[in-house]
Order: sequence, then C-alpha cells, then structure tokens
Amino acid sequence: MKSFLIQITGIVQGVGFRPFVYNLAIKHNIKGWVNNDDRGVNILLYCLESDAINFIKELELNPPKLAIIHKLKIEEITNQKEYKSFEIVESLNSNNKSTIISPDMSICDDCINDINDLDNFRYSYSLTNCINCGPRYSIINTVPYDRVNTSMASFEMCEDCKKEYRNPTNRRYHAQPISCEKCGPNLTLYSSNRDIIKYNNEAIKEVAALIKKGFIIAIKGMGGFHLICDALNEKSVNKLRVNKNRPTKPYAVMFKDLKSIKEYTNITLKEEEILSSKEKPIVLVNKKGNTALSSKIAPNVNHIGCFISYTPLHHLLFKYLDGPIIATSANLKDEPIIKDKDEVFAKLEHIVDFILDFNRDIVNACDDSVIQVVRNRNIKLRNARGYAPTSIKLENKVEKNILAMGANQKSTISLAFENNLILSPHIGDLNSIESVEYFERTINTFKNFYDFEPQIIVCDKHPNYESTKFAFKLKNINPKIELVQVQHHYAHILSVMAEHKLDKEVLGIAFDGTGYGDDGNIWGGEVFIANKSTYKRVNHIKYFKLLGGEMAVKEPKRVALSLLFDNFTLDEILLMDNSCVKAFKINEIKMFHTMWQKALNTPLTSSVGRLFDAIASFADILQTQSYEGETGLQIEQYYDASIKENYSYEISHNQIDLSLMIKEIILDNDKKLICSKFLNTIVKIIEDLSNTYKNLPLVISGGVFQNRILLEILIDKFEKQGREFYFNIDIPANDGGLSIGQIYHKI
Ligand code: ZN
Ligand code: FE
Repeated sequence: MKSFLIQITGIVQGVGFRPFVYNLAIKHNIKGWVNNDDRGVNILLYCLESDAINFIKELELNPPKLAIIHKLKIEEITNQKEYKSFEIVESLNSNNKSTIISPDMSICDDCINDINDLDNFRYSYSLTNCINCGPRYSIINTVPYDRVNTSMASFEMCEDCKKEYRNPTNRRYHAQPISCEKCGPNLTLYSSNRDIIKYNNEAIKEVAALIKKGFIIAIKGMGGFHLICDALNEKSVNKLRVNKNRPTKPYAVMFKDLKSIKEYTNITLKEEEILSSKEKPIVLVNKKGNTALSSKIAPNVNHIGCFISYTPLHHLLFKYLDGPIIATSANLKDEPIIKDKDEVFAKLEHIVDFILDFNRDIVNACDDSVIQVVRNRNIKLRNARGYAPTSIKLENKVEKNILAMGANQKSTISLAFENNLILSPHIGDLNSIESVEYFERTINTFKNFYDFEPQIIVCDKHPNYESTKFAFKLKNINPKIELVQVQHHYAHILSVMAEHKLDKEVLGIAFDGTGYGDDGNIWGGEVFIANKSTYKRVNHIKYFKLLGGEMAVKEPKRVALSLLFDNFTLDEILLMDNSCVKAFKINEIKMFHTMWQKALNTPLTSSVGRLFDAIASFADILQTQSYEGETGLQIEQYYDASIKENYSYEISHNQIDLSLMIKEIILDNDKKLICSKFLNTIVKIIEDLSNTYKNLPLVISGGVFQNRILLEILIDKFEKQGREFYFNIDIPANDGGLSIGQIYHKI
C-alpha cells in the first residue's frame, strides 16, 4: 500500500467535490480522507498504486458537473499511517483565502424532477437546489463557502433537509443553501401598496393569472428582480415601455423550454446548445417572421434575446402560463439591478402592479449574461450570471496583487493574485450615485472574498470616469499603491491578447464608441502596433467634430451634419435633398455651422461608433437614438450580402480619410445600399491595414465588433486567407472586457 496527497485548486467548493471524491474512492477501493481548506480540496489516498492511478484518471476526466479544476498536484507520502476507511473530514482553515467562488447556476434536471414529483417533500418548493445547481456568488458574504457565511445563515435546516445534508451519497450532501418549504425561505406576493396577497405556490398561481390579465410583476430572481409581463400582450409590453421610459431598447424574453423558443424563433444547433446549457444565458437569436410575440419587444430588429427559465420559481410559474414572458432587469435608468423588495416598492411603484418576493437575501446582485453565436462561436456580450465571477488560471504567479478598475460603461473589475485572475460580473454603467456605490461595493466584496489588498491599481486615462476617480481615491488612502493608467483602446486590444494568451507584437485595430485618447481627443478608430507592455498608434480615423459633445451621441444626425460640414460648403448643404439635412431646420444648420467653424463645444473624435451613427442618419434610419448601439443594430438589419461594393477612402499622413465616402454616400438613397456599402468599407479598411502589416497577428476589439454581420464577414475572410487573427469570444469586446485588458498589461 502507498500514500498519496492530492491538492486541487479551482472551482472545487460548493460543487459537490468531496462527496464525489468519497464515492469515487469507495469505487476504487481507496482508504484515506478528503477535506476542504480555503485554497481548495485535499485528498489523502491510502491504496495500491494502480488504484490511485485509476482514481486520478477518472477524477480528471470526469469531475463533478460544476467543478473546474485549475491545478491538481500529487505527491507520494512516506511513513504515513494506515487507514481503514475513506472519510470526509471537516473544513480546515489556513490563512490563505484563495478559494475560487462559483457563479450561480440554473436549476438542474434532478431538482426539476423533485419540484414536479408529488411524492417529494420539495414538490412545488420554489427555492429548491442541490450541489449541482442554485445560487452561489449571489448569496455569499465571505469564504469559506459554508452556510453560516451565506444569506441562508438564519434558516435552520429541518430534520429532512439535515438528513440529506449529512448523507455523502445524497446530491444535497453539504449543499449549503438547501431548504424546503418547512424550514427555508418562502414566497410572498404583494400588491404595489404592500398588501400581502398570497404565499408560496398559491402566490405563483396568482402571479400567472395576473400576467395573463396583462399586469406587470416584479419577480425576485437569482441575482436580482426582473420586471415581468406577457410577451404576447402588446398592451402590457407597451405599458412597460412607457412606464419604464424605454422607447426602443430590446427586452429579453423568457421561455418555458427549448420547444417554446422554437415556436417563435429560428435557432441553430449551436444556439440550442448554449440556450440549454447549465448557465442558461440570454442568447440573441433570429425571430420568425410572423409570430404572436409583441412587436414592441425589439422594435425594428430581427433578433431577440431569449432565455430558458432557470430557477425553480420560474419553472413553477411556467406550469401555469401558456406563453413566453418579458423578463428584464428591474432597475431605473442608469441604476443597477434591484435586489431588495423595499427598493422595488420605493423606486418602481410607477411601473409594477405586483411584487413576488422571497426572504432569502441577495447579497451580491448579478445580471443575466448575454451571448451571440457568430460562426459557431459563443461570443459573450455580457459576462454575468452563470459565468461570473470568472476565474482564469495564470501560468505564472503574479508578484504583486493587481486590481483593474475597468471603464465607465459596462463596468467590471478584475483582480490578479498568485496564479489567479478573476473577472467580476457585469456591474453596469457608472452614471448614477447608486451604480457608483454598487461598483465600490463590488470591489470591497472581492477584496473581502480573497483577503485581497491591491499593490498595483490599473485604471483608464479618462479623468472623469468614476472608476478612475475611485482609483485615485484608493491611491490617496494608501500612497504605497502603484497607480497605472492604460489608454482605453489599447486596453481593448489587450483584452483579446489576455484571452488568447498572446505575448508578442500584434496589429491591433480598436473600433469603438468613445474612449479618452493620449492627445485628449475622443478616440475610437485606432490602429496600433502593440505588445503587452507598450503600443504605438500607427493610424487612426481622421478626426471629425462632435457638434455639442455628448449630445451628438444621442443625435446621430449631428455627426452626419458635421461630416457634411467637413466636405461641403454651407450653401451646398442647404440645397441638399438628404435625410440628415432634412432632419434639421435651416436656422439649426446655420447655428451648428457657426459652432463647427468656431470649434465651440465640438470635441474632436476618431470614433467608428460615431461613424455608424452618421450612416444611420444618412440612410434615413435613425436621426436620434434612444440606447447605445442602436444605430449599429439597425445597420445590421439592412445589410444585403449580394451588394459587394464599398465606398472609397484614402490613407494619408497615417490617417484614414473618409471624405470620399461621404461624397459618395449622399448620392445613394437606398437604406440597404448605404448600410451594405458602409459595412463593406469598414471591412475593406481592416483588410487593407491587415495587408500593410502582413507579418503581425491581427487583433480586433472594441464595441463596434459586437456587430454580428461585421464579425461574420471578417471571420470568413481571414479564415479563408489563413491569417493569424484574434477577436474577443469569452471576454466582451465592449467596455465589459476592459478591466481584463488593463490587468493583462501588468501581469
Ligand atoms: Zn439541483
Ligand atoms: Fe470602449
């Protein structure tokens, strides 16, 4: 007999690792023990060497469903004592908090069976979970992940639950958040004036009836409240739009199951796979032409965000519903998702008719994740529930603890310590006091989880980003901290390099909305020669003026007008029969012209995102936009693959000059033609740049590359050429990926 000590790190706690090891040890005739400490899981094997080999093989090949093994270290131990059995021993505490925290997971098939089984004591229990599913990140106060450190601490298990919790062969063995209707949290349905209407399963039935009648209900989910209404009821969806003051931004739709999704959409196999994965993200899919879905869900857009019910509560609700429901994060504009019922009452009284709450607190809010399948790749647009916190194993240990603060929109933070790189869930736009508080709270949560104190802080160069301001605040409190500012678009390129572990010189093309440039201008159409530690801006979109600064972002017609000013005289413009020109009154055009001439409140930009805005205006698609990215989404809708031409452009003095394009565009007056030729032009620019720097790997990033059509064309083109080409897949191409890029600079 021999003895081996195995140390495993990764996502190995709260995922049923120890009972799994226990059963595997029994199977392979192994004695010894398994325990948890705050680094991970340790196993002592006392057995024949051949049994140990088989045991390890099977463990590596087929670990527990939710586990992710980062590292498995084996050493033989001599002079060990003899063991007569295999045992699970209690958690140990060392002083090193580096256990990786698991994301929340959707309900598993076994638990779905439990809540539908009349003979099971969890029949219809809306907070059923087990070691393979349920909340994790959203209920954890601190590590180690034990019930006392979660929001389940105040609920004492009944005898039935305890029996399962203590039985190593049960899938609820040491599942921290388990409960039943007798001992656990319960559901309460409130009217908007706080009257209690029903409890538990009766509440669910009532909610279903209310949804069918057209009411809007706030329902507590895993990481926050959703606003929910009947997705087939035009009136309800419209009411939600009006009350939420959200005129056109698409809503996500929750379906009972895949079968139901297929009734309303055309999905590919790959989309089917990701929709029904254990993470259950929102997936953007093509909707069918003539469905009963309300046209108000995603006005003028062919695809909709779909997801499958992912908590027991949603599953039970769908038992009493006939069709899909709108499920959008409950929040006020620019504020984070709401996680407490009192906040729903206080802030959303004008929106919701009823509130379905349960008394298990959400400690850490977490939005739904969003994915788009492009050429068989699951491209992440929002990294949150199911995926985040995301942990990435680093090849080498970092010498210092690093904290990266991300951008201001789609905020996320990243941490690096030892061999770990952790990306937080999507926090949101830092445009309100509430969201800035949420941002700071998230930093503290992660510091607390990992006993983490940053020695290096990386942030953006924008002086007015809340994340930058907070970085300086932390530096002020602790002057020993090294503060590093990384240019926005360089960080975008770095995010791809981090994802693909690139550590060499690359050609980086960052096409984006806005970001603070080294010269103080607003960048967003940048071409870099870059490596991990430095970059050179070798080319960029020729600057143009944003009439009225920020206001130009909301009004695409201002960007278009500014580009006209660059290329025509005022008299020529006033005579033009163009949708952009027609969107203004004559005296407005004259006023803007003066502004443009005198450079009054007209910051310079090279943003490709703004070019998309201008095109939407020229093509008579949108003159004002109500949410970020609306013009890009609209331009996609008009793309016609049979149109192969592109507009002309020139490169002079390392600037991409689009004057010729503007002159050609105003001669075209067909939406499809303009949108297709424009997207082809962007592709042509990238291809030409790629050919200029043939020997460098091509890296693209930035919000513009969320555009499905654009990415498809580029993938097809460069794959065919066999070019070394990298883009964001797991790390969002938008500002959600910025913190990973920032941190990679210092790793
Ligand atoms: Zn389960
Ligand atoms: Fe950006």
